[in-house]
Amino acid sequence: MRLILLGPPGAGKGTQAQRLVKKYGIVQLSTGDMLRAAVAAGTPIGQRAKDIMARGELVPDDVVVAIVADRVDQSDAKKGFILDGFPRTVPQAVALERMLSAKGLKLDAVIELKVDADILHQRIANRVAEATANGRPLRPDDNPDILRTRIEAYREQTAPLVDYYRLEGALKSVDGMASIEEVAAAIGDLLEGAPKKPQRNKAAAKAPASKHKAVSSRGAGRQEAAAPPRRPRRHRQVTP
Ligand code: AMP
Repeated sequence: MRLILLGPPGAGKGTQAQRLVKKYGIVQLSTGDMLRAAVAAGTPIGQRAKDIMARGELVPDDVVVAIVADRVDQSDAKKGFILDGFPRTVPQAVALERMLSAKGLKLDAVIELKVDADILHQRIANRVAEATANGRPLRPDDNPDILRTRIEAYREQTAPLVDYYRLEGALKSVDGMASIEEVAAAIGDLLEGAPKKPQRNKAAAKAPASKHKAVSSRGAGRQEAAAPPRRPRRHRQVTP
């Protein structure tokens, strides 16, 4: 299985990717992790990326495309992978498509985690607090000023990928405001084509109502734009 997880910083891509790794026995390919490792190791790529990442901007397309091309060729990625944080621009998406088709591979789905922009700062603040409490090293770009730049970069350069993949017929959107468990279940349903059922638990009932409903495009390869309007399905019912 080959998947892309799409969503702004703090949407929960890393958390959901780890669940998918366990569930499907595939690898998580996080370009952010790869770049941080390159920075820590002081490789030429790391030296090129270091200051850009510290500012919260995007590393040039050619750099990330090259590291992903290397990584998908490694043996542990043969069974499948989840791309977390890649592609982040339309040229990266085009390069990925070319790269995969040259290898005779194709994507199974692009999963968008939809979250309200105003909670992203809170989620990153929680991530920092959790890392501090557990003695884990902090990410230098997990601070309010840099986060603003990262969210801006997402809005301007990455969000257009939602339409790009919708037109490709590969996009599946999930309500990323739901609990971790509910999001994981919704993703599982989408991937396995299970019928949707309303989901509700105590945490969700207490959570603020989301503007987004979890919806599925179903049927990768179809031109969604040409499809008749579809009633969005609920994954959960939220009591305000
Ligand atoms: P992440 O861990 O995905 O939040 O990525 C951390 C940082 O790495 C980003 O803010 C970018 O500077 C850089 N980065 C990660 N993935 C990409 C990508 N696909 N394209 C460009 N820059 C990236």
